[in-house]
Amino acid sequence: MDNFLNTPIEYVKGVGAERGKVLREEIGLATRWDLLNYFPFRFVDRSKYNSVRELAGFINAPVQIKGTISSMREIGHGRGKRLTAKFQDETGTVDLVWFRGGKWVKNKLKPGVLFRVYGKPKLFGSTLNITHPEIVPFHQVAQEKGLQPVYNSTEKLTKKGLNSKGIEKLTYPLAHAMREHIPEVLPQSLIEQYKLVSRAKAYFNMHVPSSDQAIQQALFRIKFEELFFLQLELLLKKGKTKTKSPGYVFERTGKYFDDFYKNYIPFELTSAQKRVVKEIRVDLKSGKHMNRLLQGDVGSGKTLVALLSMLFAIGNDFQAALMAPTEILAQQHHETLSELLEPLGLQVVLLTGSTKKKERAVIHEGLLNGSTSIIVGTHALLEPIVQFKNLGFVVIDEQHRFGVAQRAKLWRKNKRPPHVLVMTATPIPRTLAMTFYGDLDVSTIDELPPGRKPVTTKHFYESNRLKAFQLIREEIAKGRQVYIVYPLIEESEKMDYNNLMEGYEAITKMFPRPTYQVSIVHGKMKPDDKEFEMQQFAKGNTQLMVATTVIEVGVNVPNATVMMIESAEKFGLSQLHQLRGRVGRGADQSFCVLMTGNKVSKEGKKRLQTMVATNDGFKIAEVDLEIRGPGDIMGTQQSGVLNLKLADLARDGQIVTLARNAAKQMMQEDPTFKKPEHQMLRNELKRIIQSKPNWSKIA
Ligand code: ADP
Ligand code: MG
Repeated sequence: MDNFLNTPIEYVKGVGAERGKVLREEIGLATRWDLLNYFPFRFVDRSKYNSVRELAGFINAPVQIKGTISSMREIGHGRGKRLTAKFQDETGTVDLVWFRGGKWVKNKLKPGVLFRVYGKPKLFGSTLNITHPEIVPFHQVAQEKGLQPVYNSTEKLTKKGLNSKGIEKLTYPLAHAMREHIPEVLPQSLIEQYKLVSRAKAYFNMHVPSSDQAIQQALFRIKFEELFFLQLELLLKKGKTKTKSPGYVFERTGKYFDDFYKNYIPFELTSAQKRVVKEIRVDLKSGKHMNRLLQGDVGSGKTLVALLSMLFAIGNDFQAALMAPTEILAQQHHETLSELLEPLGLQVVLLTGSTKKKERAVIHEGLLNGSTSIIVGTHALLEPIVQFKNLGFVVIDEQHRFGVAQRAKLWRKNKRPPHVLVMTATPIPRTLAMTFYGDLDVSTIDELPPGRKPVTTKHFYESNRLKAFQLIREEIAKGRQVYIVYPLIEESEKMDYNNLMEGYEAITKMFPRPTYQVSIVHGKMKPDDKEFEMQQFAKGNTQLMVATTVIEVGVNVPNATVMMIESAEKFGLSQLHQLRGRVGRGADQSFCVLMTGNKVSKEGKKRLQTMVATNDGFKIAEVDLEIRGPGDIMGTQQSGVLNLKLADLARDGQIVTLARNAAKQMMQEDPTFKKPEHQMLRNELKRIIQSKPNWSKIA
């Protein structure tokens, strides 16, 4: 980057020390290049005019009209004093109003002269007016360009004269002066292949566009470049991690796998499960460290894949561990695996926070001397005291609940890091997976086991609560069971608890003993009590389970056919989807009932509609990404990695794909960017990488 672009913002014409300070503090602009990268968030077409008659349809939206002043008058006193002008075109009349600067305006506004007026109509009682409009004699506008950029500003900036218009006064001359200082960084071949406009032209058109098409081309070019470099970074990093970490080689499938697969597997694998098991098998033979993300919707059968993978390890004289985010989930996994592996003579050990001290010592010993080959646990597995003889394979369930640092601890449990399979039931949209896990291999189970009936989802407003209860009664009459879940808002545990208890009381009144039995589970209960209540429900001794989201993950009661979610508008999409996954596990038709108050926000409505419309976890993930944005979903908002200037991972999926293909092609042709035509690209990539915070924070 040359000196021109690196010039401190204060020295840019029209800025100076005072404004420079505010620009730095308010919107983080430190140099001329930063200013160039401060893009407008939209453009107003100043060549188009509205008619006065249609203004009622544009309340609070910017409009532009052309016409004359027919009369003016000053009214009111003191603070209410104002100047009003009747402005008319051939279709009607609208009031223009000034509370300040009336004198100056009065001198400027000659009746009969043609003016252009720009502003936002507002409704005052029943009359429409435009307060403090921008007004210019029409003969002066004729020369102006058509599309005007609109920049975000702040109160402090506006005080220094840097509202949108003021910022435009800085970017407009800069856009004209910068052209020779913006060299091309992408090779000609890419520019031709993807029909990109030059970098200089793109930056010019982002601030001074000549047409809609020019804006579109500029946007495409800048987004493409941004995503292309991001993908190059990821591919480089992937290359590095691949060559850096050798992994244990599991030569054979092993006797445990073979025996289980031939004799004891409870059902035929779906073709998606088969494909994923093969992918894992290939990794384990490769001699390289496996770091694989397994994503599959709720109920897609990830546990069985995990189990088969762990058998590969055990059959090659390694130990395997499965780590779950909650105690209940760990217990369930422990039960499932124990049952399945019993015929093989394999004992599965469980280690959680509530494992008794004496028992712990025995477990630690078994892991260290190798007599235990398979263990299931919670965070307790991460403690330094937990040492293995030869840990070779780690499965982490529900990946998003573990921090990266925690995972790193697991890696250090053997001389070489054990192979890692991270399982998540919250599918990550393709574009996001490509971007974030460019350096992690991704396997996807995109198929549910046969015979599942899709869950029917219904949304009820509070006023229809009795209908929801009717559905519950009918299901219980058929011998089925019901979950009723209350939201858990961390800020106020006490309130949650009260809500839950009130709910519990209401439910026991609606569903009284002895006909109905109601279980309750929440975060404040002792693990033993929780376990007892869960067991009561799992055994079918109670028909209703009132709970907070502690049951969100993992619980498996196939006889439960109704999931009723209270205050459903308070839940995020992926959480709703997870909860819904608790039903629909048996052969019967299941229902998800979303209860909400009568008032629901726009976003809340979108979430509910999405839930009603689809059971497809991937579709839900896409909508979630749209609503929340990628930083929030990946928990990386603070890391700066997502400081994309223009590209939006949610909306620009197609460009992500193109950029990824282009980056792959580049890495094949010239992996070290040695060719002379790639020199600019190499410099730019270096600059980008150096300017970024630590990448290793991710994945
Ligand atoms: P998740 O991917 O949500 O962890 P699970 O592994 O808990 O899903 O599997 C959900 C249910 O589907 C379990 O009851 C499991 O036994 C069953 N299941 C798994 N694979 C198959 C299969 N290939 N055919 C039939 N049922 C299966
Ligand atoms: Mg699971």
